[in-house]
Amino acid sequence: GDDANPDRSVAFYSQDMNKGMQERMRIESGLRHALGNGELVLYYQPKFEIASGRLVGAEALVRWMHPERGIVPPGEFIPLAETTGLIVQVGEWVLEEACAQASIWQRSGIAPFRVAVNVSAREFTPSLPERVATTLRRYQLDPSWLELEITESTLMHDVDRVTAIMDQITALGVSLSLDDFGTGFSSLSYLKRFPIHTLKIDRSFTMGIPADGSDCAIAGTIISMARQLCLRVIAEGVETLDQLAFLRGAGCDEVQGYLYAAPLPAYAFEKALRENWALVG
Ligand code: C2E
Ligand code: MG
Ligand code: MG
Ligand code: MG
Repeated sequence: GDDANPDRSVAFYSQDMNKGMQERMRIESGLRHALGNGELVLYYQPKFEIASGRLVGAEALVRWMHPERGIVPPGEFIPLAETTGLIVQVGEWVLEEACAQASIWQRSGIAPFRVAVNVSAREFTPSLPERVATTLRRYQLDPSWLELEITESTLMHDVDRVTAIMDQITALGVSLSLDDFGTGFSSLSYLKRFPIHTLKIDRSFTMGIPADGSDCAIAGTIISMARQLCLRVIAEGVETLDQLAFLRGAGCDEVQGYLYAAPLPAYAFEKALRENWALVG
């Protein structure tokens, strides 16, 4: 009978696929529009040095201010932008905007800190160093104000090509950090081959501190390895004083997370910096 008709399930299945595809196309054209229409905004989340309590960085995190949907988090459009290639245009806008903001802070006379920009594997092309150099020049931004956060997936491509790009970026005076560290499966040997300044312990490990013994062991191991390799190490997603105490005891250099602040619009970041964070430590 009808129930056993295989064509029917096939029809349902492809209908679902079409729905998913339509949804993706809707987001993609919406994002194209957003780029041209000024709907993307950067929020900034502070990074602090544990020993001194000093503000040492600000991670730029993109948000889409959708006229109907409100604030759309990057998790809902960055992965799609990566598969469609639109990430290149999004990334160009993010770098431009982050450098413009950093140069405003540089000229305002507040103590220097690094503004970190997330860079997807697909943006890590031979044209990136020149684009970074041009953007630094355009805003007369000291390169020590800029940091690029890359992930292990970037390192898993052609090693010689990736190394050349990284060398050109660090030669400018811009630093590189390895984001979501510990979640990829690439070889540890890259840590000494690539010019990386900072390891960022992924939030999934920070979350388990101090209750989960494995997460504590992984975080502790990453920290001691970083120290032996003369890399700086930061824990992301720090939400509690217990986590901070563990990380401090283990020798972690820096922390970032809701314990201090969520990502904030530039004006709110600046206000908190002047009123609160200048006094931390
Ligand atoms: P990420 O680079 O690992 O950024 C950290 C994420 O953790 C951010 O989420 C941040 O808001 C969140 N976070 C920070 N502290 C805490 C905490 O204490 N608790 C919890 N629960 N979460 C915390 P967000 O802003 O939603 O960004 C998600 C991801 O989207 C980023 O992960 C990054 O991979 C990507 N992304 C964001 N902005 C950009 C961008 O401009 N370009 C690219 N290529 N990717 C971006
Ligand atoms: Mg990041
Ligand atoms: Mg991260
Ligand atoms: Mg992460």
